Amino acid sequence: MECVFCDLLKSGTARWVTRQSAVAAFAPLNPLAPGHTLVIPTEHYADIFDTPPGPLADAMAEFVG
Ligand SMILES: [Zn+2]
Repeated sequence: MECVFCDLLKSGTARWVTRQSAVAAFAPLNPLAPGHTLVIPTEHYADIFDTPPGPLADAMAEFVG
């Protein structure tokens, strides 16, 4: 069973801000604030502590723009 983020990446149905090889970002269905955006690695990791330094750095770089 996949996680919700992997399902979004496979289905392509999210409101994507960007989709790159290692990182994607999308607007959530229920934003907590104007401009609320989720940045995720395109490979599955259980949580931030499971994410290797490379993909984590790619996600952070996308987050800060
Ligand atoms: Zn996943």
